[in-house]
Amino acid sequence: MRILLVEDNVALADSLGLTLKRAGYAVDWRADGRDAAILGEQEPYDLAILDLGLPGMGGLEVLRQWRQHGLSLPVLILTARSAWTERVEGLQAGADDYLTKPFHNEELLLRLQALLRRAHGREPSALLHAGGLALNEGSQQVSGASLPVVELSATEFKLLRYMMLNPGQVLSKARLSEHLYDYEDERDSNVIEVQINHLRSKLGRSSIETRRGQGYVFVGPGA
Ligand code: CA
Repeated sequence: MRILLVEDNVALADSLGLTLKRAGYAVDWRADGRDAAILGEQEPYDLAILDLGLPGMGGLEVLRQWRQHGLSLPVLILTARSAWTERVEGLQAGADDYLTKPFHNEELLLRLQALLRRAHGREPSALLHAGGLALNEGSQQVSGASLPVVELSATEFKLLRYMMLNPGQVLSKARLSEHLYDYEDERDSNVIEVQINHLRSKLGRSSIETRRGQGYVFVGPGA
């Protein structure tokens, strides 16, 4: 899952970026509203975290522009505690959720998780279920009916979460790279192949199918 973080407070952006990366998200950060508006339309983000008071172009304007151009990604806005009118305007402009500053990282992560699940047609629940597996996004462990609790590496977790949010779909290496790596990361499709094989050895070979020349399909080990 790849997130666009738009925040002009550098200290806050730094700490948020770190929190998000630890939680297995690929993160691109922009402090300027105009830059963010453009990047948001260029790259296939799964979600955006948007501060409202920004240099260049205000967050509300960025959001309105995205929505006018048909961008449907979930957007969580960050607002000041006292500014209830901002929250109303933000929701009217097409925000999906908001957090008032200051907030706890744990709350932010749970809201992101809920927004991403909803965007993929899932009910919010403690664990992410697909293909007979249950993924704990907090502890980055997976389990199944015939599978004890399995520890995942950071990269395996990122990959499996994306696949479990898109089960039964053919996922090309290019698409996986776009959603698992940030703008600065070097994208190497061989790495994806290696990680797919790690997941297969942990979850069972048949849990991820290969479609020659097209990509991978997550089916899971079954119930
Ligand atoms: Ca600001």
